[in-house]
Amino acid sequence: HIENEYLQPYAIYDLKMKEIYMAQSQIRRNIGQALENNELQVYYQPIFSAATDKIVGAEALIRWIHPEKGMISPDVFIPTLEKNGHISVLDKFVSDMISLFLHRRHDAGKKVVPISMNISRMDFYDPDMLSALVDEFSNDEFLCSHKMLELTESAYISINNLDLHPLRKIQNQNVRILLDDFGSGFSSFSTITDYDFNILKLDMEFVRSIGKNPKIEAVLHTIISMAHELGIKVIAEGAETNEQVNFLKSVNCDFIQGYYYSKPVPQDVFEKMLDEL
Ligand code: C2E
Ligand code: MG
Ligand code: MG
Ligand code: MG
Repeated sequence: HIENEYLQPYAIYDLKMKEIYMAQSQIRRNIGQALENNELQVYYQPIFSAATDKIVGAEALIRWIHPEKGMISPDVFIPTLEKNGHISVLDKFVSDMISLFLHRRHDAGKKVVPISMNISRMDFYDPDMLSALVDEFSNDEFLCSHKMLELTESAYISINNLDLHPLRKIQNQNVRILLDDFGSGFSSFSTITDYDFNILKLDMEFVRSIGKNPKIEAVLHTIISMAHELGIKVIAEGAETNEQVNFLKSVNCDFIQGYYYSKPVPQDVFEKMLDEL
């Protein structure tokens, strides 16, 4: 239970913990209402080609714009939704918004780029959400080539038998899978060889070490070369500085996502960016 987890380790729990706890219990009660009130919005962070500096894709990122509290970070409410089992409601919403967006622009003959959505490992406990995804992709080649799924290593590891998993069906329809946050926490090299994903996303932690830690720079270079040998493309996350971008280009990183190029932006702003391509 959330109550115990958050309160027990702190003999004297400070104001900040109390605030987080309050925010989380409110989130539990209010997520359904927030959806109804249109407080949840899908933002898009463009992803750029390292070779051309042009937009070649985007990641969908949820934003909760609370009428009183303002913007609430996903890092605050996603973990809560993962614990209470409501994350799949949110992810289904994001998924539907992406499909609507892609189809609307495609039908109007406007420029589109592939968009990825984050799949929580807890989504795997919702068979309805997964079967909705499988159904949506079947008979829609356009969507299969334009909607992509981001999974972390922990999501992959939670799958018992990948051959029996809906993810396999989705991948068999040529939907691209991205391995998210590679290099954070207990990342393991074997993940790269154990699972069939198409694109590797280097975690921001790695990128932050550029210009500071030559060992990590060498590791970055090696991971990118290894990925390329295996036919996997690489996106670097969280590039903010000129130095980081220059280094990533020099080691042949394929794609870059970060504040250096653009923050996540609301849909209308993203559409203008696409129209100008
Ligand atoms: P993530 O999937 O690894 O997303 C990348 C995060 O890095 C985003 O944070 C993005 O805004 C941030 N970022 C990108 N470039 C930079 C940069 O140059 N500097 C800095 N400081 N940050 C950068 P965000 O949007 O706050 O999301 C945090 C995490 O919440 C995501 O990490 C993802 O794990 C989760 N999340 C966000 N939206 C969704 C969603 O719709 N569903 C699920 N299940 N999880 C989501
Ligand atoms: Mg992601
Ligand atoms: Mg990430
Ligand atoms: Mg992350």
